[in-house]
Amino acid sequence: ALGFSMVALHSRRTEGEDKIFATNNAALNAAKVVGSDRVVNASIGALLNEDGSLSVLPTVIDLLRNLPPEEYAAYAPIGGLPSFLEAAKKAVFRHHVPKGYMEAVATPGGSGAIRHAIWNYSEIGDAILTSDWYWGPYKTVAEEHGRTLETYSLFDEKDAFNLTSFKEKTVSLLEKQSSIVILLNSPAHNPTGYSLSMEEWKEVITFLRSQASNTEKRIILFSDIAYIDFSGDVDDSRAFMELFGDLPQNILTIVAFSMSKGYTLYGMRCGAMIGISSNPDVAKEFKSANQFSNRGVWSNGTRPAMTVLAKIFEDPQLLKQVEAERRTLQDMLTERADVFIQEAKKANLKICPYKAGFFITIPCKNPDLVAAALQKEYIFAVPLGKGLRFAVCSVPKIHCATVPQTIARIIQQV
Ligand code: PLP
Repeated sequence: ALGFSMVALHSRRTEGEDKIFATNNAALNAAKVVGSDRVVNASIGALLNEDGSLSVLPTVIDLLRNLPPEEYAAYAPIGGLPSFLEAAKKAVFRHHVPKGYMEAVATPGGSGAIRHAIWNYSEIGDAILTSDWYWGPYKTVAEEHGRTLETYSLFDEKDAFNLTSFKEKTVSLLEKQSSIVILLNSPAHNPTGYSLSMEEWKEVITFLRSQASNTEKRIILFSDIAYIDFSGDVDDSRAFMELFGDLPQNILTIVAFSMSKGYTLYGMRCGAMIGISSNPDVAKEFKSANQFSNRGVWSNGTRPAMTVLAKIFEDPQLLKQVEAERRTLQDMLTERADVFIQEAKKANLKICPYKAGFFITIPCKNPDLVAAALQKEYIFAVPLGKGLRFAVCSVPKIHCATVPQTIARIIQQV
């Protein structure tokens, strides 16, 4: 229970310390005591090199460094630099542009897009829908704005996308609400690393189309592609986006673009939300509502980051360079994940179906106890509701090879 409190009623929260930051702090403290080479810090959601330094794309950093002063100092337009918005659309879709009317608004990362989507497309008090394995801030953002978060089971008994559960939850929310915002993080889902197959995407869209036959209802599919640039082939990984074209007017798709991972500019807080609709008025309204929200919440975004993206997509040579540099990072990540999965198999350690991305998730009972016991072995993974999140993105390959055995043993013991 709270003691004396000054905050408004709606801001009184029971939430404790963020588990990701708490785990990271514990790892940093342990490193001070036993040395960083004995500590496996699998808490951080950023790609690190084998030596523990942050992975950056040199071309992106060079572009940023060489901008003229006014590109740092000046405001960007409220909705984002037009050249950035054009580049963001290219970065998102590449050769898989959906048919429809499209508008883009700059946001501070994908997080900003999540915020605006929830605020502008659900009613106060509504439930937002996502899967049972989810990135914690989905709930934070929903609750910050007076909404709740409801979940469906991400996986079925065959470890494929649980379409049945997805359908059930969608139907039941649409019975209670006039609109539904669905947060769907694929490919390279955080925390499991799952990516919906093209078949699964088609089933999702077919189902949503069927629900849209009730024209009283509004369906907002929020496609969170935060990790798409680390999920395999540039074009293949984007093929599903064509399914966002030609949908009924009461289905709006919003794709969230982020420069955090794909351009290693986490701290620059730059991204965009792109709305796709078959109705031009819906697209126009998307632009104005979200631009208004920019002004009303954080004003404008980070100009230098916007300019960098615009430059990359104006020059094919630069884009090629960025992609080559990113490929090296992707290879490093894939090697770690491969070795983790291989060793997990040997150790009979069950993991969620991983296709790509920064994290591998180990389902287990009593995640908090397991995480605490692992910390005694200097392994720092984040406890979630139903398992542990292990950030292969931030752990050197040599540790990815040994850790599964230890995790398997600790889970047996707890
Ligand atoms: N969505 C998911 C699933 C994420 O994991 C993240 C970052 O960790 C984001 C969105 C948004 O990140 P940013 O706001 O830095 O773009």
